Amino acid sequence: MRQFLFKAINDKENFKINRFEFKIPSLRISLKSNCNEKCFYCHNEGIPSKMPSVIKTGDIINAIYSVKDYGLRKVKFTGGEPLLFEDLKNLLYSVKHVGDIDIFITTNGTLIKKRIKDLSPNIISKISVSLDTLSEEKYKFITGKNLFNDVLAGLELLRKNGYKVEIDNLLLKGLNTNKQSLKNIIDYCVKNKFNLQFIELSDKTMADIHGKYYIDPIKTLQKIDLDFNTEKLNDRKFFKINGTKITLCRNVKNLCESSGGRCSGLRLLPNGYLRDFFYN
Ligand code: SF4
Repeated sequence: MRQFLFKAINDKENFKINRFEFKIPSLRISLKSNCNEKCFYCHNEGIPSKMPSVIKTGDIINAIYSVKDYGLRKVKFTGGEPLLFEDLKNLLYSVKHVGDIDIFITTNGTLIKKRIKDLSPNIISKISVSLDTLSEEKYKFITGKNLFNDVLAGLELLRKNGYKVEIDNLLLKGLNTNKQSLKNIIDYCVKNKFNLQFIELSDKTMADIHGKYYIDPIKTLQKIDLDFNTEKLNDRKFFKINGTKITLCRNVKNLCESSGGRCSGLRLLPNGYLRDFFYN
């Protein structure tokens, strides 16, 4: 495993790493290729779900130390589902021990209750939880699993324990984009003091699903007087409602194009290989 990492990190031509010209402010680490849900729109960030999840805490720490001198400030754990990673507690403490790095986790939220003893608000800068709907029935339809109440219970635990939480709400035409659904999720976030990120359906999504569920995020949110229209797509305009920050995340292609196709992040895959942040 270590050989994969160091080969990749030292392959400057391939990975566009240059100490003087190219910074790596963030490292996105996919801890697991698999997930315990089956969202109909899932593209798993381009990672085959059968990719072996063999990476260990020691490999991850080695990778972090190896890129730290390139300006690394942020590590984001994703999956599949990152809370399926067995050695989570040790991993989080080990990364914190490296120093000067903010730790972020993106999760479907179903396992928070089970893993809460392995987490700490003093270590995690922000935990992003996917919640596309507050309708239990629609949640089951979207995720293929009956775990809506587990997510709500997990979020309640995070709130009680003082975590900084962001809700990720993917805009899906006909499922969560009418005025009432949008207002409901905003009210829920305001009530619980969670931030809220609306997300545009990715163009990596399978064509039939994209065709059926894609909706223009700007026009959709204008319906509730949130106007995210900006000159540049990667301008992160935001709104605040009673302390809750509301943002819109455009899809990767738009961001890539608007930044001239440059990327400044790396991904560490569950099989131990590194690759560019964007996966096309
Ligand atoms: S929770 Fe995320 S990784 Fe899991 S199936 Fe849904 S979209 Fe895919």
